[in-house]
Amino acid sequence: MKYDVLTIFPEFFESPLKQGIIRRAIENGLLEVEIHNIRDYAHDRHKTTDDSPYGGGAGMLMKVEPTVEAIDAVRSGSDDKVILVTPQGVPLNQEIARELSGLKKLIVVCGRYEGVDERIRDFVDMEISIGDYVLMGGETPALVILESVTRLISGVLGSQKSIETESFSNGLLEYPQYTRPGNFRGLKVPSVLLSGNHKEIEKWRQQESQKRTLERRPELIGRQSKQKEL
Ligand code: SAM
Repeated sequence: MKYDVLTIFPEFFESPLKQGIIRRAIENGLLEVEIHNIRDYAHDRHKTTDDSPYGGGAGMLMKVEPTVEAIDAVRSGSDDKVILVTPQGVPLNQEIARELSGLKKLIVVCGRYEGVDERIRDFVDMEISIGDYVLMGGETPALVILESVTRLISGVLGSQKSIETESFSNGLLEYPQYTRPGNFRGLKVPSVLLSGNHKEIEKWRQQESQKRTLERRPELIGRQSKQKEL
């Protein structure tokens, strides 16, 4: 997958791209990330990318011309998906991450200031929010999308099993997990996990997964059966 990011803070991405699974995916040729500076598309010698809103109001907005010209320059075909990250977008979830992970090229536009000139919305295919709170810019959301999508790209994670059993993949939260030692300050690992009985372990995990989802996120269970009905 090619992941292009349009931002006025390209340095923001330097360290995250050099860490862990993202770095390995890049090294293995499964992911290519290119960061584009929207300032390169500014029209004046000060490289201005913001301006005050018509009608007055607090703060500045991302200007339409440099942002749209950056999108035009990076978009290479109709299969590319241009995403604006905004608190007003569809909330990101595992299902959306999975759909995006199957695409060849994503272009993510990061807002800053008080947001973007409304007309920028006419040049994107999709708007994504990473949650009901307001951040200072779209760079963190662009990284959140990158992480959630990259781990679902075929071949990126060593074990496909970890994707199948983890939270949200089957509409449930994942079951509790433990590693050594078997007893930490009196907190013991459930005996079934030490039993070696794989059938019983599987049954226990299923039950715990459902129990945990009912306790913490009961609405996920409803969502799963609705999806099955469709
Ligand atoms: N005034 C805007 C509003 O009320 O919708 C918020 C602007 S925010 C300060 C600046 C930029 O950060 C946004 O344009 C967007 O790119 C990004 N951003 C902030 N919160 C976000 C969120 N929850 N999800 C995705 N992007 C977000």
